[in-house]
Amino acid sequence: MELCTYRVNVTGTVQGVGFRPFIYALAQRYLVTGTVSNNSQGVEILLNTDTLTLRQFLIAIEYESPPLASIDTIAHEEVTYQAFEDFQIIETQEAGEVTVNIPPDVSICSACEKELFDPNNRRYKYPFITCTYCGVRYSIIYDLPYDRANTSMKFFKMCEACEAEYTNPLDRRYHAQPIGCWECGPKLQLVGRGVPTPTPIDETVKLLLEGNIIAVKGVGGYHLMCDATNVEAISKLRERKHRPTKPFAVMVRDMEMARELGDINSYEEKLLSSKERPIVLLQSKGSHMGLPLQVAPNISRIGLFLPYTPLHLLLLDKLQRPLIATSANVTDEPICMNLEELEKLQGVYDYVLEHDRLIVNGCDDSVLMVVKEKHIMLRRARGYAPVSVKLPFALKDNVLALGANQKSTIAIGFDDQVILSPHIGDLNSIGSVEYYEKNIETLKRIYDFKPQIITHDKHPQYESSKYAKGNHKGLLLREVQHHYAHILGVMAEKQLRGKVLGVAFDGTGYGDDGHLWGGEFLVCDYDGYERVAHLNYFKLLGGAKAIKEPKRVALSLLFDLYGEEAIRLDNPTIQAFTDVELRTYYLSWQKGLNAPLSSSVGRLFDAVASLLGVCHVMSFEGESGMLLEELYDTSVAGHYSFGYDDGIIDVLPMIKALLEESDATVAVSKFFHTLVEMIAVVYEKYRNLPLLCSGGVFQNRVLLKLLLDKFPHAQVPNLFPPNDGGIALGQVFANIDKMKEKND
Ligand code: ZN
Ligand code: ZN
Ligand code: FE
Repeated sequence: MELCTYRVNVTGTVQGVGFRPFIYALAQRYLVTGTVSNNSQGVEILLNTDTLTLRQFLIAIEYESPPLASIDTIAHEEVTYQAFEDFQIIETQEAGEVTVNIPPDVSICSACEKELFDPNNRRYKYPFITCTYCGVRYSIIYDLPYDRANTSMKFFKMCEACEAEYTNPLDRRYHAQPIGCWECGPKLQLVGRGVPTPTPIDETVKLLLEGNIIAVKGVGGYHLMCDATNVEAISKLRERKHRPTKPFAVMVRDMEMARELGDINSYEEKLLSSKERPIVLLQSKGSHMGLPLQVAPNISRIGLFLPYTPLHLLLLDKLQRPLIATSANVTDEPICMNLEELEKLQGVYDYVLEHDRLIVNGCDDSVLMVVKEKHIMLRRARGYAPVSVKLPFALKDNVLALGANQKSTIAIGFDDQVILSPHIGDLNSIGSVEYYEKNIETLKRIYDFKPQIITHDKHPQYESSKYAKGNHKGLLLREVQHHYAHILGVMAEKQLRGKVLGVAFDGTGYGDDGHLWGGEFLVCDYDGYERVAHLNYFKLLGGAKAIKEPKRVALSLLFDLYGEEAIRLDNPTIQAFTDVELRTYYLSWQKGLNAPLSSSVGRLFDAVASLLGVCHVMSFEGESGMLLEELYDTSVAGHYSFGYDDGIIDVLPMIKALLEESDATVAVSKFFHTLVEMIAVVYEKYRNLPLLCSGGVFQNRVLLKLLLDKFPHAQVPNLFPPNDGGIALGQVFANIDKMKEKND
């Protein structure tokens, strides 16, 4: 057959994942000559071959690509004939727009783990062992293309042995940017002991066993770690971190240890041991054989994860017991990335296990749960982010979407893709807003991105909205209603077009009428939405304070039902106030002073928790919902009645019936059923439309399961969070009227 020269372009996550050596090996197999190189669009291959071999070669690329690679497109064309003597990997050339994806950080691979514990390997017990198939990526990248010189590994000069591996196309470490060894790579150091110790891992383990709290530098930030079986150590951490009850995540040595602590199904096992190594929320086995209650007080869920770096493996292998591993950050601030930032937490930790590889981009641990065999992303970060979403159409303009205010993420949209940042956090402090702005700059720089449109939440007080208004510099600004963005996010994930019925059950969100929405039924498409139903408004006594104090919402509903008489009720909510408070709040309810209106299902959860005496004041977001889940009983049937007239769902009949219930378990179970029934009643009229559900309330496992039991076809976000972490993605899609078909 005739030999021709073909150019093959591969796009997707194809850099820094061993793609060029893989192509090199294929070239040897098919006996073809040519070259392979990285460029800013991905990987370019030139081949001298015949059409039949070319076809086999392309199929092999598609089906045998390295584990960390993810291919978006493979295109080929015949070009002018060029003579090649052999097949070569050639150096990166820079040209054109940057569209290649940033590879996320992934866990240590099994080959490296084996070497880590092999006394004959030159990297035996080296805490930063890595190869092309594993290790840090996004967290050390300054810029694309992904080359060592563009990462914080540029400060380490490779030794001869490492260099030999790095330059050998047949080696597992060929062009593995973060490689190093005992001689040339990053080094560990235990800070706080005075004299530096030659055995920092052993020392750290000893200190952990003595009950100390250690700040351990990881991939995208530090963890605060302590012995998860030591009650005093955990209590000390809670006290010092001012975190009385919010559950801590626990890192376990292996699946065996995980199974001792949690009930784990095969799907959850797969997630736990996946290369992304997220924290997985599981049913815990209770305290008798597992951990002290202090790990997650009053909650039978436990967040477990497996070690994802060689450093973690060395620690846990030596320790042989579970470790509390919680992100090191000041409340409401981003995760600490260096010793200077960690100083803000002085007094919380006793020692620091430090190393000298700089963290360039902060990244928290990801959090997931499994409901009905499907995973639900609760926090999308390390291992999963940043992520590129391919669109079935091209964007006409470059869009920067700024997200909301809690659990914020940002997104940039250009051509036919959207890049979503990792979880940034809540924008409640100066530090977090600075970090947020830094994340925007990072994405802009790496992707050489210049926005033409900026989209932001409708809420005028959100920091993201303020950023939009202060930084648009003449660019088109577009506000997107919060719950519409939630539903658009699901449409984006599922690549749906056309009208849908979107159900947004949420904590809060600024409505078109200026009230705080959160129990919304929207018939929408990419062009706009119609609010076809919502919960009746109730008053949030004390405004923002009501968000942390469920008893205020409950009291307001009692006033709605009984007026002033409510004060004389024998009820846990009433008992949670003093007489003076009750009088004051009655007046504020009556006059509507400092009592914004809300239709939020999140607040309804709070109210129910208080009315049943489960929780009057929350110590962390979502606490009331978690506590109500604990009371849910599958053997209870039935639901409460509620009003439904002209698109208004009146919850008061339900509250009234709930107050008459003598058994809290029955009340809670029927409350959950009632929420699903509300969806059923509204959906009745829109049965011809796809049913989409999102919003923070759908992080509730019981509600989500009941929803999917009743409506197996309901679509909920799986890859992106149902909470405000999914808002930025949705905001990009509010620009559909500005989009054009891909093949235009
Ligand atoms: Zn490896
Ligand atoms: Zn070396
Ligand atoms: Fe929301």
